[in-house]
Amino acid sequence: MTLRQLPVLDVPRPAVSARPPTAAPASLTEFVTDDLALPRFHVWTLGCQMNKSDSEEMAGALLAAGCAEAASLESAELIVINTCAIREAAEHKVIGRMGALSRLKAGNPALRVVMTGCSVRADNAAALGRRYPAVDLFLRPDEEPELVARLGLASPTGPGSLGRGAPSYQRVGRSLAATAERLPADRAAAVGEGRVARSSLTHAWIPIIYGCDKTCTYCIVPFSRGPERSRPFDDIVEEARALARAGYQDVTLLGQNVNSYGHDLPPEPRFADVRGKRTLGRRLDLDGKPDIAALLRAIDSIGTADGERAIPRLRFITSHPWDLTDPLIAAMAECASVCEHLHLPVQAGDDAVLRRMGRQYTVESYLALVERLRAAIPGISLTTDVIVGFCGETDAHFERTLDLLRTVRYDQVFAAAFSPRPVTPAARLPDDVPLAEKKRRLQALLELQEEIGLERNREWMGRSTEVLVDEVRPQRSHEHDGETRSPAKPGQLRLAGRNRENKLVHLDGAQELVGARVRVRVEHAGPYALVGSLTA
Ligand code: SF4
Repeated sequence: MTLRQLPVLDVPRPAVSARPPTAAPASLTEFVTDDLALPRFHVWTLGCQMNKSDSEEMAGALLAAGCAEAASLESAELIVINTCAIREAAEHKVIGRMGALSRLKAGNPALRVVMTGCSVRADNAAALGRRYPAVDLFLRPDEEPELVARLGLASPTGPGSLGRGAPSYQRVGRSLAATAERLPADRAAAVGEGRVARSSLTHAWIPIIYGCDKTCTYCIVPFSRGPERSRPFDDIVEEARALARAGYQDVTLLGQNVNSYGHDLPPEPRFADVRGKRTLGRRLDLDGKPDIAALLRAIDSIGTADGERAIPRLRFITSHPWDLTDPLIAAMAECASVCEHLHLPVQAGDDAVLRRMGRQYTVESYLALVERLRAAIPGISLTTDVIVGFCGETDAHFERTLDLLRTVRYDQVFAAAFSPRPVTPAARLPDDVPLAEKKRRLQALLELQEEIGLERNREWMGRSTEVLVDEVRPQRSHEHDGETRSPAKPGQLRLAGRNRENKLVHLDGAQELVGARVRVRVEHAGPYALVGSLTA
C-alpha cells in the first residue's frame, strides 16, 4: 500500500528577512499513492507540558484529516517530532535519532518526518536542514496549526487550511522571533471543532498564554516562542466548561509564565476590580485587565446541576515570581478547586547568580513570597527548578543554593546543569564552571533534595489523602526507593495517581478505580512517592 498524493504546496510566504520563502521540500512530491490511504502518524513529544498540549492539537488535526495514529514511531508513515531546546541534552536526543530515522526512510521511501517545537526558530531555518538531515519539513511552534495543510492533507477550506494570515515577528535580543499572535484563534477553533486529541481521560491541559517576555539570560523560549500572548478570557472559560461536560476532574492551566496571564489583553469594565502593579521585574500596569486570579475564580465557579464544582481540581504551571501577586495567592486560598501545590522556579540561591541569570528578583524577595504563600495556604506543596553551574557560579554561590533548599524544604526540585543555548545572552558569557564540577554540584543538590523530599513525604505517614487514580502500573517487587511491597492481592492491580498536592501515590485496587478519586491512608513514604491503601 502506498500513501496519498500530496500536492506540491507553493505557499506564498510573507517577505521578512528572517526566513526566505521556500517551496515545499522536494521529498514531499514523492508522497504518491494509488489507493488514497492516509499516512499513519506518530507524534514524538519532548520537553514541557506546553509541548504536550501542542502535540495533542497536532494529533487532533491529523485525526480530523482522516489519518490514523500508528502504534509506534517505527510503524508510522508520518513522524512529527515536537522538540525541546531548553537544554543541550534535549536536542542531542533528537540528533541521536537522525541515523535511525534515515534508515527507516531508506526502508520506507514514503516515510515523512516533520520537526517542530522550540528547536525550530525564525532565526535558524538555514542551519536546521544540515543538523537534521532526515527531516522533510520544519515548522516553528507558531506554524504548528498549518501541519495538515503543509502536508497537503487538508481541503482548501477545511480545518488547518492556510487561511491563518501572515506570521508576525518581533525582535528579541539580537534575534527575530515569530510571535504567537495567531495561536489563540487556532486553539479556539481546534477546541470548538473537537480537534484536540487529549492524551488522558482524567486530566487535561488548557494553554492560556503563549510565549515569554521575561529576560532570563540562559533561556531559549523567548526566541522560539516570541513574546507573551494571552488567550481571550471567555475562550478559556468555555474550554473549561467543555472539559467539565466531558467529565474531566483535573485541569491544568498552562503557560511558560502562566501567572503573567492577561497583562497584554485590553482592560474591560467587568475586570474593574482587578487592581495591581507588578512590583518585581519589568513593571506593568494591570488595572482593569483579566488576570489569572480572575480566571481561577471563574473556573472554580463552574457548577454542576446539583451545585457541585464541575472541575474538582484546578492547577496552573509554570509560575514566575514576578507575577505571584497577593490577589493570586488569595484566589488560591479561597477557591476550593485550586489544588494545594505550586511550582515556583527559583533557579539559584545567590543574588549575584540570579542577577547574571536575568531573573530580576532576590533570594530575600523570593523567600518573602514563599512565606506569604505558606501563611495563606498552610501545608501547600512547593516544587521548583534549579540550574547549577551557571556562568560565574562559585562554590560559595552554590552553597547558598543548597542553603535555600534547606530553608524552603521543597517537596520536589527539578534540577539540571547549565548548558549554553544558542542566541541567548548567556551564550556570550564565559561557561567557566567545568563539566565535572557541574556534575558534582548537581549530584550534591539531588542528594540533599532526596533527604528533604523523604522528610517531607514522611510527614504524610498515617494521614488520609484524596488520590485521582489515573494509571495501572506494572507489578514490581521493589519500589523506587528499594522498599519491597507484597504482591497485589488477587483481582487487585498496582494503581497510581496524584493527590491534590501533586504527590505521586501508589495503591492496590481494582481496574474500575482508574478515573476515580479515592481516599488513601499513607503507609509508606519514599523521597519521590507515597504508598498507601484504600480507606473508602
Ligand atoms: S521565564 Fe525565563 S526560564 Fe521561563 S520560559 Fe521565560 S525566559 Fe525561559
